[in-house]
Amino acid sequence: MFKKPNCPVIAIEEHYWDPELIKTYVGAEGSRGGDMEKKLFDLGALRLKEMDEAGIDIAVLSHGAPSTQKLPIETAAKLATEVNDRLAKACAANPSRFAAFAALPTIDPQAAADELERCVTKLGFKGAMLHGMTNNEFLDLKKYWPIYERAEKLDVPIYFHPSQPHQTVTDIYLQDYAKDFPLVVRPGWGYTVETATQAIRLVLSGVFEKHPNLKIILGHLGETLPFLMWRIDAALKRPGQKAMSFRDVFCKNFYITTSGFFSNPALLCCVMEMGVDHILFAVDWPFVDNPPATDWMKDIPLSDEDKAKILSGNSKRLLKM
Ligand code: ZN
Repeated sequence: MFKKPNCPVIAIEEHYWDPELIKTYVGAEGSRGGDMEKKLFDLGALRLKEMDEAGIDIAVLSHGAPSTQKLPIETAAKLATEVNDRLAKACAANPSRFAAFAALPTIDPQAAADELERCVTKLGFKGAMLHGMTNNEFLDLKKYWPIYERAEKLDVPIYFHPSQPHQTVTDIYLQDYAKDFPLVVRPGWGYTVETATQAIRLVLSGVFEKHPNLKIILGHLGETLPFLMWRIDAALKRPGQKAMSFRDVFCKNFYITTSGFFSNPALLCCVMEMGVDHILFAVDWPFVDNPPATDWMKDIPLSDEDKAKILSGNSKRLLKM
């Protein structure tokens, strides 16, 4: 039987599917089948039962990839609004157990900024989650900055979640092995490269100079970036480039979560590079089961005080819960 730690447990990368949004997906992204689909569509008893069994008190819910990042401009804003309204209803039915990250119609950046504000001020959402490219563009381009300006003004984080890499990247880098190892395109490697690239591009873009209090969350223990911090920082300080401290920006503006990555050596690397205050607990349910995540947290080689920060103290502060 799971023994609860002496603090609440808040998991912040917990996914669901909206039945209307999912109808717009094509191919593999829109079909998981069987038990997985049942869990993704459940916003009640089944989800709560699995949270209870693993000792998770609160789940911050977000749509699965690619969420609203692949919608055409004609329908994106309207559909995102409906998706967020339905999610708000699910949270209202279990207000002590669920909170939410908004889906945003990024193809229309101004509408995305407005929808973020509506979700935070009217629906009580905790920020937004974005999934990979929009129209084959990374989201650090200046045209998307209205979203970051609004997030900074509202003081809510934007969670950058993986999605499928650009098709050309997949074709050249990974396709040879995708038949025998389909997940090499996803969590096996493709997702990591895609999302780490997005994060590095955000730092290089200068958006944190314009919006110094913008807060970004990365899942999966920072998508390798804490491990690479020293090397990236050193490289970007070599002569002939714009002055830049990757480390300063990453350690101040970025937060990382434990989603789908329950490794002591990797966690300790993150703690040593970033400090414990920017590390938050997440599972990545239902793509990852809850019990391995909470079981792992019981025995991580950190003090009880630091464990409590990761399990909920840091989310309470960052998400104002
Ligand atoms: Zn996820």
